[in-house]
Amino acid sequence: MPAFGRTSTARLSTCHVLLQRVLQRVVLDYDCVIIEGHRGEQAQNRAFAEGNSKLKFPNGNHNAYPSNAVDAAPYDVVLKGVNWKTKVLDAGKLDKEGLANLMRFYHFAGVVKGIALLMGIKIRWGGDWDGDNYFNDQTFNDLVHFEIVPPKSVVILPDPGKLVAPGTTSTGEIQ
Ligand SMILES: [Zn+2]
Repeated sequence: MPAFGRTSTARLSTCHVLLQRVLQRVVLDYDCVIIEGHRGEQAQNRAFAEGNSKLKFPNGNHNAYPSNAVDAAPYDVVLKGVNWKTKVLDAGKLDKEGLANLMRFYHFAGVVKGIALLMGIKIRWGGDWDGDNYFNDQTFNDLVHFEIVPPKSVVILPDPGKLVAPGTTSTGEIQ
């Protein structure tokens, strides 16, 4: 039975507990790796500069701690260096092997979403941001990206080091 290695486990431990539960269940049936969990300021701004994220720190979904997003992919596809930003309309430019590898991301995402659904956890996937199960309306593809869709009542906390008591400013003054 597949299980996460040390690096994937460490990365997953920086993610929201619901993402941990989903991926820990997924890996039992579908060998996969965790590419990234929480992203600090430097890592987020690097991802932005390299075009791997559309958002600057602290606005990315990987920036909260624990992270509300996780990047995960089938184990062997990652080893083959597939570009997971490839859009469906550009897939025709790939060779047969490249296309087969790209399709693995869609297959994997269906498993992740399906398992999450059965666990009662709503997941938003970077290959279908608007969740309409149609993939040609994407302006930015991030096929390894999964994030939890928190219920409205859940407050997303910033980094613990930056916590501020309600009603005070960061310098401690009462507002
Ligand atoms: Zn991501």
